[in-house]
Amino acid sequence: MALRTLSTLGPLAGKRVIVRADLNVPLQDQVITDDGRVRATLPTLNALINQGARVVVCSHLGRPDGAPDPKYSLEPVAQRLSELLGKPVAFARDTVGESAHEAVAALEDGDVAVIENLRFNPGETAKDDAARRAFAEELAALGDVLVSDGFGVVHRKQASVYDLAEILPSAAGFLIEKEVDVLDRLTENPERPYAVVLGGSKVSDKLGVIAHLLPRADKILVGGGMLFTFLAAQGYKVGKSLLEVDQIETVKGYIADAAERGVELILPVDAVMASAFAADADHVVAAADALEDTPFGADGLGLDIGPQTAELFAAAIRSSTTVFWNGPMGVFEMPAFAAGTKAVAKALTAVDGLSVVGGGDSAAAVRQLGFTDDQFGHISTGGGASLEFLEGKKLPGLEVLGWQ
Ligand code: ADP
Ligand code: MG
Repeated sequence: MALRTLSTLGPLAGKRVIVRADLNVPLQDQVITDDGRVRATLPTLNALINQGARVVVCSHLGRPDGAPDPKYSLEPVAQRLSELLGKPVAFARDTVGESAHEAVAALEDGDVAVIENLRFNPGETAKDDAARRAFAEELAALGDVLVSDGFGVVHRKQASVYDLAEILPSAAGFLIEKEVDVLDRLTENPERPYAVVLGGSKVSDKLGVIAHLLPRADKILVGGGMLFTFLAAQGYKVGKSLLEVDQIETVKGYIADAAERGVELILPVDAVMASAFAADADHVVAAADALEDTPFGADGLGLDIGPQTAELFAAAIRSSTTVFWNGPMGVFEMPAFAAGTKAVAKALTAVDGLSVVGGGDSAAAVRQLGFTDDQFGHISTGGGASLEFLEGKKLPGLEVLGWQ
C-alpha cells in the first residue's frame, strides 16, 4: 500500500493541523549550530499556511528525561522557524497543558504555533502501550488532523509518531514523501550500476544494511573504521585500528557471498596509519597488507583510507548511475584524516544519476568539508531511519501512514 500524502486529507482551511516535525537540531548554549532540519520542514509548513490551516508544530529535542528541562526547550527553534517563515510563530511553554491549549485556541487561519518539547512528557517514548496511547490522546485534543513529517523518527514507535497517527486522520508531509521516494528507488529498482559506499565507526551497526543490499547492489565499497574488520577477515594485521573481532566470521561470509553473486566488493588497498588518535599525530600511508610495517609498528592506528584507495573508490563511484553513501571514510573531524571522505564526497557530486548521502555524521561531513546540499541528489535527514529503511525493516511511523 502506498503512503498517504497531504492531499488525501482534503481541504485544510480553518482546520487545526498538527505537524509532527523533526526539529531536533544541534544546539550549543541555546544557539542553533545547524538549522538544516528546520529548513527541511518549510515546504510542508508553507503549503499548510497557504491553505489557511491553523498549524500546530510539535517535535522532540535532545534526550530530556521525560520531564521539563530548560536546556532542551524548543523556544530558540520556534524563533528560528519564525525567521525562516517570515512571520510570527507562537510558542507554548508546555506540550499538552494550559499554555498549549491557549496557543492553539488563539490561532487564526494561516497562523503557526510551536508547542514545547514532546519528550518533556514520559508518555512520548513510553514502552508501555497504554501510557503512550494516553499521551497521544492528549496531543490529539490539540488538532483535527496530523501531518507526519519527522522522517528522523519514523523508525520509533513513539506517541506522536505512531499512536497519534492512528487516532487522528493522518498523512505524510512533503519531507517524508521525498525521503521515502528516494530510499525506495534505492531498494526496489535502482538504475544500474548501483554502488553502495559504507564507512563510519561500527561494523555491527551496518551489517544489516550490507546483508540487505548485497543481493541488490553491483558494487560495495568499504571504508571508515569498519574497513579494518574486513582487512582482518582477509588475514591482514591492522595494528591498533578499530577492529570488531566478533564480526570477523560474519564479514568472511559477506566476502564469500559477494564473490558468489558477482558483486564487486571493493576493499581498501592502502590506509593512513597514525601514531595516536589525535589531530596532530604523526602519520604515514601504508599498503593494506603491510599496515604494521610503519614506524609505529603494531601500535599504529588506521584513521583514513589511503590515496590509492580514494582514487579507486572515486572511479567506482563516478562510473555508477546510482550511489548510496553512509559513513565517513576516516576521522574527517581531524583535517589530517579527512582526505578520503572528501574524495568520496567529490566523486558523488560527479555522479550522472542519483547520489544519496545518509547518516548524521556523513551529512555533517559533506557540509563541513565545503560541499553544498544541492551538489547531491539527496541528503537524508534521518540517519537511523534511512539505514533501517535500507535494511528492509518495517518502520512503525511509515506503516501507520499506509506504507508497506
Ligand atoms: P553516520 O552518522 O554518517 O552514520 P557513523 O556514526 O557510523 O556515521 O560514523 C561516523 C564516525 O566514524 C565519525 O565520527 C568518524 O570519525 C568515525 N570514523 C571513521 N573512520 C574511522 C576510523 N578509521 N577510526 C575511527 N573512527 C572512524
Ligand atoms: Mg553517527
